[in-house]
Amino acid sequence: MNNYSFPGIRFVVFFLITVTAASQNYLKCADRSDVRFVKSNENFNAVNIDEETEWEVGFGRRIITPQNQVWLAGYGTKRAPEGKIHDLWVKVMAIKDAKGRCVVMATTDHMGMSRTVYDRIFSEVNRRFKIKRTDFMLTFSHNHCGPCIVDDLVDYYPSDEEQRGLVEEYTRWMEQQVSDAVGDALTNLEASKIYMGEGICTFAVNRRENPEAEVPQMIAEGRPFKGAVDHYVPVLAIKSPEDELRGILFGYACHPTTLSFNYWCGDFPGFAQINLEERYSGANAMFFNACGADQNPLPRRTLELCENYGSMLSDAVEDVLKRPMTPVSGEIRTAFKFVDLYYEELVTREKLAPIAAGKPGVQQRWAQRMIKLIDEGTVFSKSYEYPVQTWSIGRDLLLIAIGGESVVDYSLMFKNIYGEGTWVCGYTNEMISYIPSRRVWEEGGYEGRPHLDEYGHPAWRWRGDVEDRISETVRQLVRKVRKVKVRNH
Ligand SMILES: [Zn+2]
Repeated sequence: MNNYSFPGIRFVVFFLITVTAASQNYLKCADRSDVRFVKSNENFNAVNIDEETEWEVGFGRRIITPQNQVWLAGYGTKRAPEGKIHDLWVKVMAIKDAKGRCVVMATTDHMGMSRTVYDRIFSEVNRRFKIKRTDFMLTFSHNHCGPCIVDDLVDYYPSDEEQRGLVEEYTRWMEQQVSDAVGDALTNLEASKIYMGEGICTFAVNRRENPEAEVPQMIAEGRPFKGAVDHYVPVLAIKSPEDELRGILFGYACHPTTLSFNYWCGDFPGFAQINLEERYSGANAMFFNACGADQNPLPRRTLELCENYGSMLSDAVEDVLKRPMTPVSGEIRTAFKFVDLYYEELVTREKLAPIAAGKPGVQQRWAQRMIKLIDEGTVFSKSYEYPVQTWSIGRDLLLIAIGGESVVDYSLMFKNIYGEGTWVCGYTNEMISYIPSRRVWEEGGYEGRPHLDEYGHPAWRWRGDVEDRISETVRQLVRKVRKVKVRNH
C-alpha cells in the first residue's frame, strides 16, 4: 500500500436532480403489469416523429455511497472508510428509437462487478421491466475509492465474517438502487435529440512503459511518454427538442487510481461528472471507462491531482459539446454473447498445497479456498464465459462493450477495424480479470502475467488465444448490428 498524506476533506454538496416525466409515450420495453412505471401507451402512434426528435431518452440516478462500514475496494488491503469527499452514484440512461426498441445503460462508481451481482441486477431489471440481457449494459468506472461488493475479488482482502456481512448488506441495498434507477429512466422517457463527438484528453499514461517513480523526472526533462495510449474522449449529448442539454455520456481509457486513501470518492471520473453537472444545470453526466487496464493517471496520489484530472476530462468534454456534433439518427440494434475464454492450466491440489501452506496473503487465501472446493468435489470448468456486447445506435454510433480489464490494444484495434463512430467500452458487465491482448500476453508484465488467482479463478493464466476469441466474437456481433458488411480480419 502507498503512504498517503491527506490534504483535507472538501465536501461537495450535491443535489439530486429530479427529472420530471414529460412524455406520455411510455415503455414499449417495460413490463406493463408494473403499474408504477407504465401509464398509457395509446398515444404512441399519434406522435409526430421527425428526424430530429426521433429518440426518446430517460435518465435515472441514485446515490450508492455505503451507509455502513464496508471497506473500500482495490489495492488488496483492509481499507475501512473514514469519510466521504463526494457521493458515489449509479446513473442510468434509457434510449428508445422510433420503432420502440429500447436499451438501458447503467454507469456506476464501483471498482468492480462480479458475475453474481451483475446477474442479480440483470435478473431484477428483467423481472421488473422486461429488459433483455442484450439490451442492458452495466458499466463500472473501476474507481478505487468505491466499496467492495459481493463475490468481487473475494480472496483479495483480509476480510472476516463481520466484513463479509457488511459487504452483503451493502450489495443488496445497492442492487435495489440500481434497479430503481432503471425504473426511473424508463419512466422519464422524453422526446430527445442525440449527438456524438470526440475530444482528446492526455493525462492517461501507459503504465507498462513508464514507471511511476520515473514520471516526475520525465515530465521535468520534457521526455515523451512511451507505449500505446487511447486519449480519445467519446461524448454523447442528449438534448431536448428545444436544445436543452439533458444528458452527457462520456468515456476515457484510464485507471481511476489517482487516490488510494480511505474516503468515498469517484476519483477523476467523479470530479469530471460533478464539473459537468455544475456547468450544465439539470443535465445527467455519465462516465464509462474504455480499455484502460494498462493506463494510469500519472503522477498521482494527491486529491489536487485527482481534481485536476477531473477538470482536464470535463474540459475535454465541454470542448466537444461547444463544437458542432454529429446528429445520431436511425434505429437501435443490439447483440450479446458469452464467449468461452480458456484457461492455460487448471489448478490441482498438488500445485495448490505449497501455496496454501505458504506466505499469508491473497494467494494463500485463494489456494486454501480452491483446495476446499476440490475437496468438496468441485470440477472446475476449463473455460470462463466472457461477456461481449454490441449496440448500434442509429447509423452513426457503434458501441462495443467487453468485460474485464482490457488493455488499450483492444480499443485501438476495434476502432481501426470498424472505423469512425466506433466506441469501445471496457469494464462492462463483469470485472473478470485483466484481459491482455496477444502482445501483452506474450510480453507478460503486470497485465499479461499469470494473475487469475488474484481474481479468484481456478487457474493462473488465460490461454494464448484470448485476443483471437474476443475479437472474433466482436466481429460476429458487429455483423449482427450493422447492416453494412464487416470485412474479415
Ligand atoms: Zn485495475
